[in-house]
Amino acid sequence: MLKHVTAPIDDGPPPQDDGTPSELHGLIDFLNSRATARRPERFDHPASAAAFLSRCALDYDGRPLTAADTARLKVLRDALVHAVEEPANPEAWAAINDATATAPMRVQTAVGPTIALQAQSRHPADAVIASVLNQLTNAAITGRWQRLGACARCRRVFYDNTRSHTRRWCSYANCGNRANVAAYRSRTKKRR
Ligand SMILES: [Zn+2]
Repeated sequence: MLKHVTAPIDDGPPPQDDGTPSELHGLIDFLNSRATARRPERFDHPASAAAFLSRCALDYDGRPLTAADTARLKVLRDALVHAVEEPANPEAWAAINDATATAPMRVQTAVGPTIALQAQSRHPADAVIASVLNQLTNAAITGRWQRLGACARCRRVFYDNTRSHTRRWCSYANCGNRANVAAYRSRTKKRR
């Protein structure tokens, strides 16, 4: 598995688990742009950020990103990850506010009624930020934000649809099992 650190399987986010609300796919994709035990950082270069975002459910139109855009997206991503990991920490939410303040938005209403944030300019990174914020809004008002978690082993963000909200691993086969084997080995080592 170590080889994946330098040779990713693909340029996109990890596949979504069954039971993950489709309204949150883009947000979870965005959060999984960070480096994990098995995937490299995707927001370290404009070209890799663009390749990654084009495979996320975020309405990214594929226009090139600048280094400054990529840095803004990375700051927002890190703030959101912080809020997943420590949802009661006001600093995490303040950091999200600072990051989103870089993208001027307006509210767009339509028959339904539907209400959504829309970037004021046709800037590609601003449009991605608006899309992320719309999915964040959905997660907040539906109470689904509390269901987002990060794998205790590889840090991949997932949607926890267990009844008890106690999911710890992105998948038992990939991470839960390995973590348990490692814990068992360290226990038996100590006994020797
Ligand atoms: Zn994992």
